[in-house]
Amino acid sequence: MFEHLTELYNNKELKDKWIWKHKDFLPPTVIVNDLPIHFSSAFKRIGISMSGGADSTLLAYILLKLITENKIDCKLYPFHMVRFADTKPWLEYIARDVWNWLDKKFPGILQPLEYGFIPSDLETLPLSVVNPKNFENVDFTRCNTDVLITQRFKEYFVKKHNLRFVYSGTTTNPPFDNNLNAPQFREADQTNLNPELVIAPAMINPFALITKDWVMAQYENFQIPELLNLTRSCEADSLQLDIHKWNPGRVYPKPCGECFFCKERDWGIVNSSKYVKSRPCYYALGGLNYKNGYVTSCPTQSDKLSILKDSYLPSEVFNSKNFLQHRLDLLSGKWPKGCDMCKHVEEAGAGLSMRKEEIPVLSHYNKETGTNGFEGLRTVEIRFSHSCNMACLHCSQVFSSGWLSKLKRYEPDEIDRKYELIQLTGEMHRQSPDDDLTISISTERALEIVEDLNANFPNLERVDFAGGEVLYQKQFFPTLERLAQHPNASNMMIMFHSNFNADFDPIRLSKLLANFGKPMIQMSIDSGPNMYSYFRDGNWEKLVENIKSFRTADNGKTEMNLVCTTGTYQIMEIEDIFKSFLQLDANHIQASIIFTPKYLNPALMKFLYAHEIKNDFKKVKIIIDKEHEKRLADVPKYKKLQSFKGTVKFPVWTDIETAYKSLQDIENYIWKTDIDEKYWHSFIQYVKKTDVIWKQSFNNSIKKYKLIKDKIVRVKDV
Ligand code: SF4
Repeated sequence: MFEHLTELYNNKELKDKWIWKHKDFLPPTVIVNDLPIHFSSAFKRIGISMSGGADSTLLAYILLKLITENKIDCKLYPFHMVRFADTKPWLEYIARDVWNWLDKKFPGILQPLEYGFIPSDLETLPLSVVNPKNFENVDFTRCNTDVLITQRFKEYFVKKHNLRFVYSGTTTNPPFDNNLNAPQFREADQTNLNPELVIAPAMINPFALITKDWVMAQYENFQIPELLNLTRSCEADSLQLDIHKWNPGRVYPKPCGECFFCKERDWGIVNSSKYVKSRPCYYALGGLNYKNGYVTSCPTQSDKLSILKDSYLPSEVFNSKNFLQHRLDLLSGKWPKGCDMCKHVEEAGAGLSMRKEEIPVLSHYNKETGTNGFEGLRTVEIRFSHSCNMACLHCSQVFSSGWLSKLKRYEPDEIDRKYELIQLTGEMHRQSPDDDLTISISTERALEIVEDLNANFPNLERVDFAGGEVLYQKQFFPTLERLAQHPNASNMMIMFHSNFNADFDPIRLSKLLANFGKPMIQMSIDSGPNMYSYFRDGNWEKLVENIKSFRTADNGKTEMNLVCTTGTYQIMEIEDIFKSFLQLDANHIQASIIFTPKYLNPALMKFLYAHEIKNDFKKVKIIIDKEHEKRLADVPKYKKLQSFKGTVKFPVWTDIETAYKSLQDIENYIWKTDIDEKYWHSFIQYVKKTDVIWKQSFNNSIKKYKLIKDKIVRVKDV
């Protein structure tokens, strides 16, 4: 992958020039996960600049690993430049945490962390004012004095410890458009494959000509997600983060998510797939997911790792044969067949895959066998049955009894087979024609599962319930009651997925959820009022009423999030969806994508209506902007919303923030995804078929599109 760099570093002419110019030997390169890095086993004392960021931390890890594994007699001397001590005091302590972690992992090599200091007043003082002597190859008009201080400290540090080279880890900027806040000297047209940025007298910067995606991939390849978690890229200061006082020992402020460095880090994570050789996954390592007749590791994994009729207790299933292989495959970089959703998202660069949403815990994992200690089980999802009060158009008989009733007298025909209408042929959520597994966990069995969790899995931190519709099922409340006896209940996140459109007792529900550390409801709404009863087979007013009465009973203790599972129908009604979601007073607005069936995939909409849906997305942005402006204009009033956080001076509403992000994720997915246009015809057939079976009318519910003969046409902008 980096053959061009190997070639560049080994270019004889350049090498001779370097030796002649610097009168020094040029260290050889070693290849680390494809990247050539200048390093010699003859080194005795080398230094490293440790900022506490992801790049320099990874570089320190690599050097320590090389030294340890090759038994090289070499010490690594680290220093940290304390900068913006008044406005970002936490940075120094983050670097110290990183140092502690590395020292523990590689004892005896890393020397004590030393500190240089840059007064904040000099950070912004143009270098041309100081006009230093003996400071070559630096454009005084484009730098501030911080560059001089860092360089002078480095020279002092090299001398003091008699160092051969000092390493630093700075990457080239990612290919963002309008990269105004990016450090200009890191732009690709500035670094421009210049080997002198990689190696110069007393300095080696192995990442100078690569981007952050490679760096982020190495945290996976080396299976050190906990080290990545210690690092910080965010450059926001206390004013931007609205922190009035921060003292050492307090929790570090959350990254802002907005500055260039936060965005670069996210970009690196999302785009790292091509460099990944190992795929540690929180769920594969520490998840159990009870599905229709089988257990797997996560909600989207579809391999039947253990069959429920054979064993159902977590202690029997967690280290069963297929679970071990599942972990071994991912950890060696191989995608298991059932992980195709994560594979799809990562390869398309379409946001964070589920695998990357949580940090995997490897502390109880055995790399040789694939077993994980019971302490490693972190999350469980349980489905009791497919009993459901609705029959939504993206669902199937496997997950909804409503669907089963709709298709009771239905015989799949030639059209269903020709157009691959897998929901109607009964193949959806099934792996083969003879797969007749159903979701079926009785109350008695659910209680046995929970007893086993309470007794054997002390670190369980999250339990999800999904359906069917759990509020419609008798197993739910007794199971919650028993789970409240888990030793970790008071720290546990308890989450359930619900259409929130069933009859239930809001006071009892609120009381049961209060036994857990973090209760959360994921409400699948998937529609605005326009198409709610059409798509979901339910009543919008009842939904609104249920949200209201639960809020009153619960008084804001439970987080309530709105989810839009987004496919073709949702793109047609995207304005109505976002507009109505913003009125429901939720904590967050989230979007997920319908990947299958392919005829409901949202990317289909771009074949005929790319221009129109682009405009619709713009209109949704305006809707969110307007709602935001409305709230900003009367903060005392909108401060009462569930989504409010921050202060009156710096107000933030999390539903607004996440609405923007969800919209962006949907757009990214649509424009980046290739899908066969033939599924558009399948979609038309599906609409026709379900209109007949459901006894309803697409044309009466969807405002901007109409089914006319065998076409779906955009009729007007409303
Ligand atoms: S890689 Fe993705 S699909 Fe596979 S277990 Fe992990 S989260 Fe689930």
